[in-house]
Amino acid sequence: MAAAVFQLRPVLDLLMEKVIIVGSGCAGLTAAIYAARANLNPLVLEGRQPGGQLSTTTLVENFPGFPDGIDGPQLILNMHAQAEKFGARFSYAEVTDFDMSNKHVRVMADDEWLDTQALIIAAGASARYLGLENEEKLIGHGLTSCATCDGAFYKNVPVCVIGGGDSAAEESLFLTRFASKVYLIHRRDQLRASKIMQERVFANKKIEPIWNAVVTKYVADEKGEMRAVRLRDVKTHEERDLEVACVFVAIGHDPNTKAYQGKLETDPDGYLIARHVAESKHPGVFIAGDVADRVYKQAVTAAGSGCAAAMEAEKYLSALEK
Ligand code: NAP
Repeated sequence: MAAAVFQLRPVLDLLMEKVIIVGSGCAGLTAAIYAARANLNPLVLEGRQPGGQLSTTTLVENFPGFPDGIDGPQLILNMHAQAEKFGARFSYAEVTDFDMSNKHVRVMADDEWLDTQALIIAAGASARYLGLENEEKLIGHGLTSCATCDGAFYKNVPVCVIGGGDSAAEESLFLTRFASKVYLIHRRDQLRASKIMQERVFANKKIEPIWNAVVTKYVADEKGEMRAVRLRDVKTHEERDLEVACVFVAIGHDPNTKAYQGKLETDPDGYLIARHVAESKHPGVFIAGDVADRVYKQAVTAAGSGCAAAMEAEKYLSALEK
C-alpha cells in the first residue's frame, strides 16, 4: 500500500497546485511575492475586481517607503509586477465554493474545482450599501461606492458622500476636483475619520457636512438617473429632499467570505477568524488581509499578514514533504 501511494504521489502533485492565493489586493499580492520567491509557483485567483480596494483609491500617504505618497492603483501595479517577476501566475477566475473534506483543499473557480496543497484566502472586502429600495438599479446611474472611478463624470454638479470615516473624508476631498458642491452626510455629529483628514475636510469650502442625517430614499428622474436623496434628521425626524446628481456611499465594507461560510470559523459579521496572525483552524488554509481584519484594515497591515500567510504556507508545505 505504501508503495502504491509512493508511485501515485508524483501524479497527484502534477494535478494539484502547491499554493493557491485567492485575491489580488495588498494582502494577496504580498503573499504572492513571498510564495513566488520561495519557489512555490503560486496561482493567484484575482476575481472579477483585481487589485482590491487600493485600486479604487487615490493617493496613499501612509504606506512606508513613499514619502510623497503613491497612487493606490500604481502601488498595486508595482506589487503585481513584483510577484510576476518571481513566477507568480494570475487568473481572473472567481472563487465561489470551497471544500476541505479531503486532506488537501479545493476551491471552485469559475465552475472548475482546483485542488491545492495550501490555500491563502486574501479575498478582501466589498463596499457596503444602504440596502434601500431600487439601489441595485441605480448603481452606475448616480449611485456608486468609488469616487476615483466615477467622480470625473460629475463635473459642476452637486454630489453627496454618505459616511463619516476616512473613506468618506477621502472621497469628499477627491470629489471637490469635479463637483460644484460636495455634501458629506453623516448619521452623527462628528466624524470617525482621522484628525488630519477631518482638518482637510473642514478646510475645504466646497464640502458641506450635513450632520445627524440619514438617507431614507434615493429619488430618480424619469430616465432612471439619480436626482436627489431624501434625508431624515435623526434628532427632529424631519425629512427633506436634497438635489444631487450622484451619491457616493462610503459606509465601510463587508468581508468577501461567502464561499467559506459554515466551513471555516467566522465571527457574526462574516470575518474569518485567524490564529497566530494567518492560520485558520484547518491545516493548509491560511488567511490574510481584510477577510480577517475588522480593526486595522490598512494596506500595510494587509501586506504584513500576506507575508505571514505565505511564510506559514511554506512551513506547512515543507513539513508535508518530510
Ligand atoms: P469606517 O471607518 O468603518 O467608517 C464607516 C463610516 O460609515 C462610519 O462613519 C459609520 O458611522 C458610517 N456608517 C456605517 N454604516 C452606516 C449606515 N448604515 N448608514 C450610515 N452611515 C453608516 O470605514 P472606512 O471609512 O471605509 O474606513 C475603513 C478603514 O480604512 C479605517 O481603518 C480607515 O482608517 C481606513 N482608511 C484609511 C484611509 C487613509 O488613511 N487615507 C482612507 C480610507 C480608509 P459611525 O461613525 O456612526 O459608525
